[in-house]
Amino acid sequence: MARDIIHLVCQECKRKNYTTTKNKRRTPDKLQLKKYCNACRRHTLHKEAK
Ligand SMILES: [Zn+2]
Repeated sequence: MARDIIHLVCQECKRKNYTTTKNKRRTPDKLQLKKYCNACRRHTLHKEAK
């Protein structure tokens, strides 16, 4: 299985708040999600990190 663990990084404080997995062959685009950040105490944009 080609599922890789990826981290979702808050674009405001750069914390790695979430961990998820995805199939890089099926989803070549970078993930970009609005998620709640405990450090920022609000929803911020989270992007996939390497
Ligand atoms: Zn944050």
